[in-house]
Amino acid sequence: MAEFSHDLVIIGAGPGGYVAAIRAAQLGLNVACIDKEPALGGTCLRVGCIPSKALLESSELYAEAKGGMTRHGIRIGDVTFDLAAMMKRKDTIVNGLTSGVAGLFKKNNVKRYEGKARIAGVGKVVVEGSGEADTLSAKHILIATGSVVAPLPGVELDGDRIGTSTEALKYPEVPQHLVVIGAGVIGLELGSVWLRLGAKVTVLEYMDRILPGMDSEIADMALKLFKRQGMKFELGTRVQKAVVHDGQCIVSCEGKPDITCDRVLLAVGRLPSTEGLGLEAVGIELDKRGRIPVDKHFATKVPGIYAVGDVIEGPMLAHKAEEEGTACVERIVTGYGHVDYASIPGIVYTHPEIATVGKSEDELKTEGRAYRKGTFPFMANGRAKALNSTDGMVKILADAKTDQVLGCAILGPRAGDLIAEVAVAIAFEATSEDIARACHAHPTLAEVVKEAALAVDGRAIHI
Ligand code: FAD
Ligand code: NAD
Repeated sequence: MAEFSHDLVIIGAGPGGYVAAIRAAQLGLNVACIDKEPALGGTCLRVGCIPSKALLESSELYAEAKGGMTRHGIRIGDVTFDLAAMMKRKDTIVNGLTSGVAGLFKKNNVKRYEGKARIAGVGKVVVEGSGEADTLSAKHILIATGSVVAPLPGVELDGDRIGTSTEALKYPEVPQHLVVIGAGVIGLELGSVWLRLGAKVTVLEYMDRILPGMDSEIADMALKLFKRQGMKFELGTRVQKAVVHDGQCIVSCEGKPDITCDRVLLAVGRLPSTEGLGLEAVGIELDKRGRIPVDKHFATKVPGIYAVGDVIEGPMLAHKAEEEGTACVERIVTGYGHVDYASIPGIVYTHPEIATVGKSEDELKTEGRAYRKGTFPFMANGRAKALNSTDGMVKILADAKTDQVLGCAILGPRAGDLIAEVAVAIAFEATSEDIARACHAHPTLAEVVKEAALAVDGRAIHI
């Protein structure tokens, strides 16, 4: 067994782990990063954010070419697509980015180990790869092992007909009827991809709404738009069973007739990934949701062992994991490191997009906090009209007394890009007046954000 020594050993090369590795190397540490997969980048780059966004873009272009172009006066003949070429493009993007991380590791002298890591004691990690195991000793260990798909009792995943997002990112043909279990982010994004490419898509959701946890007014507006696009929804539906029978999937729901379809996508959430990590060897116990408990500096109860990303509390988002990885290693080296959780945006990359940051209106109501609300529709914006994308609105919520921006929810074109302005405003503790007074170029979608900020004080101009 070969033995190596490093200042910091990071387990997991997803956005939490690989960003932490690069930042720690920049700060002068001798860093190692272990991942069991041959490609770096974690769930996000390999089977999450990046491949899903590649397919969302391709399928959206197809849908535009098929239906949307005529409104611009552009006539196109028969529009068809080549699914294999679409998948190849997605794979090329993924490969480019994952090998890009390998390049960044080289550039920053981050030592990469391939294999499954196990914590064998304080300051000791064993890596089991294809050959002889390596033992690494380190002053600091950072766990960034991410998450895995949450199973649902009765739903028999066969890795083909009944699968997870990983399978839904590479179906070899367009399903005739795709049943999606869960109207969360994955269900709506990947449901949109296959709907646009011609599948019938039925989304089964346990709650009586979509996107639980997101601003309910915006989620209700989005639901209407998704229905208009042809997505079918069965809300308040408890899935009891999904099995493959004679090449078809049979989905059974409480109190409803069985549904027969050719593909099922299970998307009812993700669970922290800690199996086989050896946490018991150092006495780290998980919380009741299977997460690694950490303090505000990402330290576990065991000195020298830290954790960030999907494996700890908080939203399971790539940019949240990156911020935590950075803050964790900056704190180790410099004594300072901080994540501003109030300004972490969440985005659903459907069409139109949905983006939120800060508190939702529902949360403010529950807290009994006095707030003022400004909304402005994309319908009244020149650029949105030029883009032919006028559905949705921007909602800004500000403290009733101080006018400090508390939250924002956007449903509309490029909402994911527009929300960045409000995230910065929240991070800088700005007021809605600050946003309203800042000059926004004309004609841009960003003017809708400015108008919503003006609307907080009842003085939007173009409505
Ligand atoms: P991961 O990215 O999960 O990385 C963990 C790594 O640890 C993995 O590479 C794994 O192989 C490795 N590992 C685990 N255990 C071991 C072990 N014992 N030894 C060695 N290696 C190990 N988030 C967004 O912000 N935007 C999006 O658009 C978005 N889209 C998504 C789409 C899909 C389909 C999915 C599934 C997720 C999406 N997410 C998105 C969520 C995002 O992928 C995660 O929040 C993010 O990847 C978490 O980063 P992480 O570093 O904590 O963990
Ligand atoms: P999710 O938590 O977003 O949604 C799960 C949905 O399944 C919820 O609506 C929930 O009510 C529903 N559900 C739970 N049990 C059910 C049951 N028995 N029957 C029917 N419905 C049920 O989870 P997800 O969509 O699987 O995504 C997992 C994680 O990945 C999320 O935390 C998300 O943040 C992350 N992700 C982010 C993005 C993005 O940022 N754009 C994209 C994809 C995934």
